[in-house]
Amino acid sequence: MLKLRDIRKTRGEGPQRYSLVVPQLDLRPGQRLALVGPSGSGKSTLLDLLALVLSPDPGGVFECSVDDPMLDVAGLWRSGRQDVLAGLRSRVMGYVLQTGGLLGFLDVQRNIGLSRSLLGLPADATVRRLAEQLEIADQLHKLPAALSVGQRQRVSIARALAHGPSIVLADEPTASLDPLNAERVMQLLVAQAEERGVCILVATHDEALARRAGLQLHPLQVQRGADGGVTATLAGGG
Ligand code: ADP
Ligand code: MG
Repeated sequence: MLKLRDIRKTRGEGPQRYSLVVPQLDLRPGQRLALVGPSGSGKSTLLDLLALVLSPDPGGVFECSVDDPMLDVAGLWRSGRQDVLAGLRSRVMGYVLQTGGLLGFLDVQRNIGLSRSLLGLPADATVRRLAEQLEIADQLHKLPAALSVGQRQRVSIARALAHGPSIVLADEPTASLDPLNAERVMQLLVAQAEERGVCILVATHDEALARRAGLQLHPLQVQRGADGGVTATLAGGG
């Protein structure tokens, strides 16, 4: 669904330089991947590229074939078609953030339904079913502030799935949870993605957790260059 070849993103110069290099990455339906690396290695940068919110440097191949015909993402960035990219993002992607990113003035039900209502999708049983599967059905009429951190992350996962995306990107979804909750939330995320045949990519610094969840590990390998800057290269599989 997403195909990347020799995609790069550089920020800063000299000792402040940070470069991300993606020699090859393919996201396919039903795939479950983990992007692992220490803080500052570029996990969020890569997720932002994949989420179509951050433009890659010129060069390389970045294609999206969720829709027919295939879309040239790199070309859309070059020609400034942010409108097309934004439309693609809202239909195709779901996003889970470290701290949930929920809207504090909307109750749980409306937060989960947000991705659907923004797309003009009908209010059907989807929200309730997701809430049941994620064990938050009794929280639907509360505001996010009244929930535990673990419950908020489940709401965030439900919202990322509610509009039926093809790809869910999760940026450190368990980093603010205690170990027991982290394990449970990761299991729920993986199980719900699996049930729907959704491709998930989870960024985490917790390699052991990713392994236990059955995710395919993609490490970001960091090297310091002659200029004092840093280059992080995405490694595949294994
Ligand atoms: P991670 O998510 O693995 O902690 P990030 O992708 O946030 O890593 O950061 C990777 C590198 O990019 C870091 O060196 C960080 O300082 C740099 N960086 C992140 N965001 C920006 C930005 N908006 N402008 C410039 N540099 C940035
Ligand atoms: Mg990050």
